[in-house]
Amino acid sequence: MSVTPRRVVLASGNAGKAREIGALLAPAGIEILSQADFGLESAAETGLTFIENALLKARHAAQGSGLPAIADDSGLVVDALGGAPGIHSARYAGGGGDAANIARLLAALDGVPPAERSARFVCVAVFLQGPADPLPLVCQGAWEGRIATRPRGSGGFGYDPVFLPLGDQRSAAELAPEEKNRCSHRGRAFAALRLRLSGSALAGDAGAGAS
Ligand code: IMP
Repeated sequence: MSVTPRRVVLASGNAGKAREIGALLAPAGIEILSQADFGLESAAETGLTFIENALLKARHAAQGSGLPAIADDSGLVVDALGGAPGIHSARYAGGGGDAANIARLLAALDGVPPAERSARFVCVAVFLQGPADPLPLVCQGAWEGRIATRPRGSGGFGYDPVFLPLGDQRSAAELAPEEKNRCSHRGRAFAALRLRLSGSALAGDAGAGAS
């Protein structure tokens, strides 16, 4: 029996992200459209937590498109920095881009020994039936590791060159994309969301959680 896919808007203007998440959620019968298809700008991320910001983005996309919406919010949480850069990860160095963010992070951790450089990438993925949905699906994924003392590798994006996943000698920027997707915070959060949307949330997924 074939089932008509549910059309859902993704609260991101990034076509690559829409493709990637579209492929991930297709098995759950979801067809992903980008908010750019509706001429929508990005929502202001004024929340204090990843969850609040993901909900703000999803609500904005649902409101502007008239469709159910999915959004994610992610970032790097470093223990020795009290959780920074956290929700400010994208603009940690004030808008200078990835290289400036990495430089600021390494400077902030200067002299901190390897055993105290623990960190994790986190991602929150949410699904809203509509802008007034009182009970959103909220799923999260984490990817544990530590911060290197210098950048390594040319793949990935953001803080990948200085993130050393737990149990791996390589940086996240030295992993193949499929390898990263399998263990990353985003991969785990969306795997959990896919299970929720498929109505089979009973299956477990290491590192992923849902509420
Ligand atoms: P966003 O919420 O997906 O836009 O991510 C916010 C910021 O967190 C990005 O601009 C990156 O600086 C950082 N970030 C999130 N996920 C990753 C990742 O997988 N690798 C490296 N940096 C990431």
